[in-house]
Amino acid sequence: MNPHPTQSPYAPIQDYLSNVSRFKIIESTLREGEQFANAFFDTETKIKIARALDDFGVDYIELTSPCASEQSRLDCEAICKLGLKAKILTHVRCTMSDARVAVETGVDGVDVVIGTSSYLREHSHGKDMTYIKNAAIEVIEFVKSKGLEIRFSSEDSFRSDLVDLLSIYSAVDKVGVNRVGIADTVGCASPRQVYDLVRTLRGVVSCDIETHFHDDTGCSIANAFCALEAGATHVDTSVIGIGERNGITPLGGLMARMIVQDRDYVINKYKLHKLKEIEDMVAEAVEINVPFNNPITGFCAFTHKAGIHAKAILNNPSTYEIINPADFGMSRYVHFASRLTGWNAIKSRVEQLGLEMTDDQVKLVTAKIKALADVRPIAIDDADSIIRTFHLNLHSKDEKPLLPNMTAAEKKLFEKKERELIGVKEKRSLEEAVDKEAEVPISKKTRTETVS
Ligand SMILES: [Zn+2]
Repeated sequence: MNPHPTQSPYAPIQDYLSNVSRFKIIESTLREGEQFANAFFDTETKIKIARALDDFGVDYIELTSPCASEQSRLDCEAICKLGLKAKILTHVRCTMSDARVAVETGVDGVDVVIGTSSYLREHSHGKDMTYIKNAAIEVIEFVKSKGLEIRFSSEDSFRSDLVDLLSIYSAVDKVGVNRVGIADTVGCASPRQVYDLVRTLRGVVSCDIETHFHDDTGCSIANAFCALEAGATHVDTSVIGIGERNGITPLGGLMARMIVQDRDYVINKYKLHKLKEIEDMVAEAVEINVPFNNPITGFCAFTHKAGIHAKAILNNPSTYEIINPADFGMSRYVHFASRLTGWNAIKSRVEQLGLEMTDDQVKLVTAKIKALADVRPIAIDDADSIIRTFHLNLHSKDEKPLLPNMTAAEKKLFEKKERELIGVKEKRSLEEAVDKEAEVPISKKTRTETVS
């Protein structure tokens, strides 16, 4: 059973278009990711990444064009020979010369792409739509004749003329392309635009629909999700989202989004507990840190700090967690070494440390930790040693200082903060008493008031 049920008053209504429960991943760390500013993968690294992605369970692995360089061609052949479960694709321009090189590498499929926006038609390749259509059909028929899968994608789809797009997709669908691709090459699309375009395209072609979203405006995961809801079948990802500029839909972020949608599908299809390992491997290879706000593996993705959150989390994790960290082999961490801590978090820590204290004692040591956290930043070790020393002091005559090496100024500040905290507490209990009084019947209250 899912320990983190996701039912909400806004639960999506399943419609016949949606593929959120049967999507496939085209993992492009070794193609799009190679276009990341810091990426210089050698053969050994590429093989390591390909094996890890295959083990994770991605459906396809997309590789840099064998026409990019002699080394790219050799690496492509080497990865095809690994005998992975994932299908291997390579990504080439929509020309016969590129297609001829691609089919000789041993790949399972070829992804071809051509710019269809007016920008690209004018400033990049300078070809008109009739030329593009004829070139596409020739390439598709050639690749199919070799028994391989073929995808045709436009580039910069969201700034291409809709009539042009639909007419070319319809033409390639008729000659039996396996997938058409929608690519937000510049990252300009919004989720609603994605939904509209994919849904329209779904009505025009019968083949699969692959989608590719850049993250320039932070919409890459949302756009991928909306595309699936509108009937897209495949999503391009890369590990941590690395790619051209600030990259594309990240594999981990997509997993986070999709597990909330359909936990059974995601958990049975992908080895989620391998995610952190893969992200660390790629982060190391491209010399970056995994961002703090990364879904799932960001260092604080499952850290709860505020006292009120900690209390609820300790009672029932789904209060403030939509994803169960254990599904990804991660663990929850209740941050107790801060001024925002609460006594429930400290109580749980006291129990973890195997110490026995009454609730009143826990509340007292909590006040001390909060006061000390105002004096100087305290780490987990500090908080643990405060708890231990406090516990020791309860059972011994001479009192040890809770924080070692406190200066006179720090001691003074600590006493002041502790007084303030206890003051706040007294004020609160006074208010509670007043509130209680307010609950007594009017006649009695009036009398009390008269007396006082
Ligand atoms: Zn891209």
